[in-house]
Amino acid sequence: MLLIGSRPVQRRTLQRPWVGLHQCSRQSWKATCPAGPASTSAHVCCCSLISRRAMKALPVLLCIDVEPNDRQVAGDPATDWSATPPCLEMLDRFRTSVQQSTGNPVHLNWFLRLDPQIAEAYGSAAYACSRYATQWRDYRAAGDEIGLHVHAWRRSGRTWTTDHADPEWVRHCAAIGIDSYREHFLETPRSFRFGDRFLNSEVVDLLEREGVSHDLTLEPGHPAQELTWDRATGLLPDCRHMPRTPYQPCPFNHLQRGSLRHRRLWMVPVSTGRPRWFRRTRHLNLGVRPDDMRRVFDNLVANATTTHISWVARTGDFANPTCRSNFFASLAFLMEHPRRSAFRFVRPDELISTAHEHFSQGDRLLDMQACGRRLRLRRGGLLSPARRIPNTDR
Ligand SMILES: [Zn+2]
Repeated sequence: MLLIGSRPVQRRTLQRPWVGLHQCSRQSWKATCPAGPASTSAHVCCCSLISRRAMKALPVLLCIDVEPNDRQVAGDPATDWSATPPCLEMLDRFRTSVQQSTGNPVHLNWFLRLDPQIAEAYGSAAYACSRYATQWRDYRAAGDEIGLHVHAWRRSGRTWTTDHADPEWVRHCAAIGIDSYREHFLETPRSFRFGDRFLNSEVVDLLEREGVSHDLTLEPGHPAQELTWDRATGLLPDCRHMPRTPYQPCPFNHLQRGSLRHRRLWMVPVSTGRPRWFRRTRHLNLGVRPDDMRRVFDNLVANATTTHISWVARTGDFANPTCRSNFFASLAFLMEHPRRSAFRFVRPDELISTAHEHFSQGDRLLDMQACGRRLRLRRGGLLSPARRIPNTDR
């Protein structure tokens, strides 16, 4: 037994920092560590991370995809985009209210749909840029991010199919989006979201080559699966083992953190979790049942390794009365949350620039946790060296 600060600490705890991490995690709301003031390298690491999480700001990214109401668009701008203006007005009111109550600036992240489906249905891929040009100018002046959102919809007869199985078509859709964005805004989009949480290496290569800085598409925890909620080809990526903190990916696998070599592009994962242990993984979405979203959000806030929260929405969902009431309920939850004064609504570049060191420490702790789990399982004969243990635990 050692004395650290005023309280005794087991020597084993100091030799196994992931044990300390678990102890700290349980008490993160109190911003205290059971070991008292830190005095060993292992515990310095845990305590500094926990105290930052508990005492300082938690970056929250609200990512809003600006797109038509329905996925199978009819081609009539008046009705197809009817939900977008009221959704923008509602988020304007949310911004004003949060800024007045907390005194902190609120930066939102808008991802405008620019792809072949929009070009064919409304005459120009940059339709959303020009129709709401005043709003984008004002939002940019308010410090918001104006990013790019792309889907791989392809005309098949009288309907549309999401053609993820053809990598050349997918790359073409992203390229059309980047070119149209440049034509309208006279610059390359800094941030990007592909639709339906799909992303492949061809698109990542394109984003890197064209100078896009952040991708905010991927949703950790989801297995590879078919897109079942609409007509589609191909599979969605297997994201079960990908990092949950922002990372610069390996040049050969965008679902892995690059170590010796990495891309310049940052991947900022969408926040996901299970509302209950027996339920499947859900991503934070303003249009979805708010009680599920509250559970996922509170679990993330209470977890000491959470570096950010990314909560997504699509303006088209505002046309649906159930989704609309879910929007209001989830935004009210954010505004009335007991830790609301710690939330900082930020752009991806603000997240990366202010918390770069934090990601490194969080990653090291997660690596130590995974390493400890492997060692314990090997000692117990439960794990052959070749078997893979995921480096994430929620
Ligand atoms: Zn979309």
